[in-house]
Amino acid sequence: MSIELRNVDYVYDSGEPFEFFALQNINLCVEDGAFVGIVGRTGSGKSTLVEHLNGLLFPTRGEVVVDGTAVRNDRAVLATIRRKVGIVFQYPEDQFFAETVLDEVAFGCRNYGFSKEQVDDSVRRAMQTVGLDPERFMPLSPFQLSGGEQRRVAIASIVAMGQKYVVLDEPTAGLDSRSKLAILTELESLRQSSNVTVILVSHNMDEVAEFCKQVIVLNEGTVAFQGSTDASFRDADLVSRTGLELPESYRLARALQECGSELSVNECSTGRMLDSLRLCITERGEA
Ligand code: ADP
Ligand code: MG
Repeated sequence: MSIELRNVDYVYDSGEPFEFFALQNINLCVEDGAFVGIVGRTGSGKSTLVEHLNGLLFPTRGEVVVDGTAVRNDRAVLATIRRKVGIVFQYPEDQFFAETVLDEVAFGCRNYGFSKEQVDDSVRRAMQTVGLDPERFMPLSPFQLSGGEQRRVAIASIVAMGQKYVVLDEPTAGLDSRSKLAILTELESLRQSSNVTVILVSHNMDEVAEFCKQVIVLNEGTVAFQGSTDASFRDADLVSRTGLELPESYRLARALQECGSELSVNECSTGRMLDSLRLCITERGEA
């Protein structure tokens, strides 16, 4: 099963003097169980695209199909789609409303009519998944937490509902690098343990290189590339045309090549790059 977009256009203020084509002829497919990045300059249409995935926006033309069901403005269809696709928006803590973390995380489950036991169980498991100790955090006010903890609460409230597709719009924006890494590592283990599909909108190319095997590059409302993340960063023309920043690992690999170093690294993520560098250095030492 999958999420597919077929010939999707989206026009803001369609028919008005200031109408704006935010998405143009988008065709793409996200397969079950993938960890996919969506990248592109500010204003390239990432958030607009994501809002189509659970029927917050509907295409002006074309269709969005989730596990075979076309998303349309119909109560039953939207209920089905939203049961499958959960979105964590940018700065989700701005939308907190509950008095306790428990109520915040439990809100969606209660709305879906989970029994009290199911709510309790789902909330605890979701909090553990995102690295928050339920006993400690459930009674606290979500407003008194650190930025990283608040982001985890927001992600837990989506994870608790057990949706199959989890979409995150810049979930690590404004967090320190340790919290970023921890949150994404937890999402990766959720993907592995529960076969959840993770769609990550990000500006941070180091995290995209580390976690997303596949990437969708948007440029001025069109898909400039969909495929392997590694291939996207190696495509110099794509990188310059779409304004992608290269991850540190690629910059280092390029710099080493340019200065004719025998240490050749060509690895996708910083972690793997460091491993390959260590290996190169050890082998040279032994030679
Ligand atoms: P991104 O998330 O990649 O930064 P967005 O999807 O937020 O991009 O925006 C894509 C384009 O659509 C931008 O040019 C933006 O100004 C425009 N846009 C976004 N929201 C609206 C809106 N509500 N009304 C009109 N134009 C909008
Ligand atoms: Mg955005």
